[in-house]
Amino acid sequence: IDAEEFRKHAHEMVDFIADYYRDIESFPVRSQVSQPGYLKTLLPPAAPEDPETLEEVFAGIARQSPNFFGYYPSNSSTAGLLGEMLSAGLNIVGFSWITSPAATELETIVLDWLAKLLKLPDEFLFGGNGGGVIQGTASEAVAVVLLAARTRAISGNKRKGLSEAEILSKLAVYTSDQTHSCLQKGCVIAGIPLENLVIVPTDSSTNYAVSPAAMRQALEDGVKQGLLPFFLCGTVGTTSSSAVDPLSALGDIAKDFGMWFHVDAAYAGSACICPEFRHHLDGVEKADSFNMNAHKWLLTNFDCSALWVKESSHLVSALSTTPEFLRNKASDLNQVVDYKDWQIPLGRRFRSLKLWFVMRMNGASGLRSYIRNHVRLAKRFEGFVREDPRFQVRHTFYSSNTLAPFCSF
Ligand code: PLP
Repeated sequence: IDAEEFRKHAHEMVDFIADYYRDIESFPVRSQVSQPGYLKTLLPPAAPEDPETLEEVFAGIARQSPNFFGYYPSNSSTAGLLGEMLSAGLNIVGFSWITSPAATELETIVLDWLAKLLKLPDEFLFGGNGGGVIQGTASEAVAVVLLAARTRAISGNKRKGLSEAEILSKLAVYTSDQTHSCLQKGCVIAGIPLENLVIVPTDSSTNYAVSPAAMRQALEDGVKQGLLPFFLCGTVGTTSSSAVDPLSALGDIAKDFGMWFHVDAAYAGSACICPEFRHHLDGVEKADSFNMNAHKWLLTNFDCSALWVKESSHLVSALSTTPEFLRNKASDLNQVVDYKDWQIPLGRRFRSLKLWFVMRMNGASGLRSYIRNHVRLAKRFEGFVREDPRFQVRHTFYSSNTLAPFCSF
C-alpha cells in the first residue's frame, strides 16, 4: 500500500461516507430496483482489463436509506465505523495467539467487559474454564456450540457402550417453534437428522414463550422412543414474537436430561445491559453457552456476534486442528487462547477493535441511554398503535416473557 495514495483515497472515501450520513434522509427506504438481475445490465460482463479511477468506481454506487426496519436495523455508529476502519487498516489475521497477541487478548478483555455489563455469571468470563469469542453471526455461534455439544454427547454415549453410528442417528435437539431457523441450519451442519430436531409448539397464552411442562413432556416422549436428547435451545427475544423463554426452568430440564443448554439472545441481549431489563436473562447462569449480536443493537457495525461458553474445552475438542505449520510453543504449552479452535474458519479479523471503540467512546452509561431511548420510542410507537383502530396490540408489553421494544401487532 502506498501511504500517500491511500491517504488521498481514504479521505475521499470518508467524505463519501460522511455525505451519505449527512444526506441520509433524502434516500429511498426501499430499493428502487424492481427486476432481479438489474445489476448485470448496468455493469460490463467482465472485470476491467485496465485500472479505473476511484471516481469511476464511485459513479456506480447508488445510496439507499438504512430506515428499512422490516427485518432488523444493521446498526452503526461513528465509534463502530472507526473501529471497523482500523481493523481493515491493520488487516490482522489473528487466528492464533502467536499471529497477533493483541488481537487475541483484546478480544478476551472486551468480551469480559461486555459479559460484566450483561451481568453474566463469572463462569462465562476468562480466568476459569470459560470465556467469550466473536463470531460473525448468531447462526455461526449456534453451529459451533452444537458441534461442541455433539462431540461431548458422542463421547458420553460411547462410554455407555453405544456405537458412533447409533449415537449419530439418535442425537436429538429440542427447541420451540419460535426459535430462529439458524438452529435448523446448525443441525444440518452438525449432521443431526432433521427428524431429530424436536420443535415444541407455543401459543399466545404464554406470549409464545415455550412451556417448560410441554418441553419436559416432549423430552420424556423422545427418550421413550429411543432418542438421545443432547441440545436444548432457549431464546431471549424470539424473531417473530419477541418471546422470552423461561431460562431457569429450561436450564433445570436440560440438566435433568444431561443436555447442553444454549441461550440465543441475538437481538434482545443488548437490552440486558440496563438493570431494568436484566431480568430477561435470569436463568442464564444455568446455560452452557450464551450469544448476542452486538451488531444488532449495540452500536457495533456488522459483523460482531458475541458468544460465551462456560467450558471452552468443549469447543476446542470439537474444532481444534493442529497441523505442523500451525504449531508453536505458546499453543503447545497450552498457555494461550487460540481462537481458531473456537470457530469454523481458520482466519479471523480483528473484530474486537470495533466493540472496544464502541465501549470506550460511549461508555456503559452511553450504551444504556441508547437502549433506553429506543425503548422510549417503542413505547411511543405502542401508544400510536393503540390509538389507531386499524391495529390491535396482541402482546402484553413489558411483561415477564416478552421484551419491550420488539412486539408484534
Ligand atoms: N436468533 C434470533 C433470535 C434472531 O432474531 C436472528 C436474526 O434475526 C438470528 C438468530 C440469526 O442471526 P444471524 O443473522 O446473526 O445469524
